[in-house]
Amino acid sequence: MKIEAPRGTLDVLPAQQPAREAVIHAAESAAVDFGYRRIGTPTFEDTALFARTSGSGSDVVQKEMYTFEDRGGRSLTLRPEATAPIARAYLEHGLHREAQPVKTFLIGPMFRYSAPQKGRYREFWQLNFEAMGSADPAVDAELIQLFTEIARRAGVGYTRLALNSIGDRDCRPAYVERLREFLAARVGDLDEDARRKLDTSPLRVFDSKNRDVQRTLADAPTIGDSLCATCAEHFASVRAFLDAYGVEYELAPTLVRGLDYYTRTVFEFVNEGLDAAQSTICAGGRYDYLIEELGGPPTPGVGWAAGIERMVLSREGKAKPSAVEIFFAVDEPARRAEILPLVARLRASGRPTDLDYGGRSLKGQLTQAERSGAEIVVIVRAEGATIRRRGEQDHEASLAELERLL
Ligand code: ATP
Ligand code: MG
Repeated sequence: MKIEAPRGTLDVLPAQQPAREAVIHAAESAAVDFGYRRIGTPTFEDTALFARTSGSGSDVVQKEMYTFEDRGGRSLTLRPEATAPIARAYLEHGLHREAQPVKTFLIGPMFRYSAPQKGRYREFWQLNFEAMGSADPAVDAELIQLFTEIARRAGVGYTRLALNSIGDRDCRPAYVERLREFLAARVGDLDEDARRKLDTSPLRVFDSKNRDVQRTLADAPTIGDSLCATCAEHFASVRAFLDAYGVEYELAPTLVRGLDYYTRTVFEFVNEGLDAAQSTICAGGRYDYLIEELGGPPTPGVGWAAGIERMVLSREGKAKPSAVEIFFAVDEPARRAEILPLVARLRASGRPTDLDYGGRSLKGQLTQAERSGAEIVVIVRAEGATIRRRGEQDHEASLAELERLL
């Protein structure tokens, strides 16, 4: 029997790493420049953490969780997202006692049992940036600008940033009721998924990827007209700060998020060059009630998550592959042992060095050197050696001189 990678998972082969590393490096370097510190949480959590926070009507809880019982009979779930785990850690370790907001980032794998397609996997990686403990609209704007900066550094293109506010406890319920009435009157135009959401969380019908449902929604009431004064003011400030940063956005009155804990600001970076159902590369928003729902004190928060695979698909230009700098082609096999100490010293001093292992002819080894991208090829002969630098004349040297000349 041939064993292959599990359905929906991804091998990231060496040739694909440079593009991925460009994204991760951009995120890590921007994190430093923006004052976000790395946080790590387990890849599995108590199932209740996600069931409680995501909302029982959400896609994630309904259909996508990898839930299992461990040998001790506990129900555990491979994390489908990182915000709830970070909020749990924030509470569990009393981070609300540190200076607020606590700005963190996490880069790691997430797991969702969804139908695999290009840009949609069962194990995928996310960049996650969160700021907990501040309701200041300038934090929302900072996080959004932070993603634009990561995208710039990583060469990731997107076509638009969609922005909306979905209100809070004061203004959302009345709106949700109006929406429910609107949808209930058009139940014949909804698909099964939308009908189910109509009962549990009508706002999420906006999340539908079904075109017919989207058409029905075109005339639906939007939350924007129903925001209370404080939410409207908060949203206006977020927009003013984005303008100050020079970040362009489109108002998207029907944009909602798939999870229950979002309030006020919600946003998405979309790359229309990707398949429509997988075109969102980064999504986030404010979640002012999340920590409270976990049993903590009222603590506002805001953050986003971006799919690394989708960012890689959205990269423009080629990533520079990591290359060796010095390649040793050994024309006289008997002398191989003599150069190994030098190879080890070069590597120890941070000079990427490689040599041939195939027992190839000199010609074959030089082809190998060329493929490796090496700047310098050293041809070790029975007597002495030749140093061949790209674009320069060959230089003859004794083995003793080699180290000084490299
Ligand atoms: P979608 O609507 O595409 O299912 P979502 O609303 O479920 O996305 P979030 O939970 O907001 O996504 O996750 C944030 C980002 O993580 C997404 O914008 C996307 O880039 C990425 N992402 C989410 N699910 C997957 C997946 N199954 N495979 C790859 N990337 C994913
Ligand atoms: Mg999803």
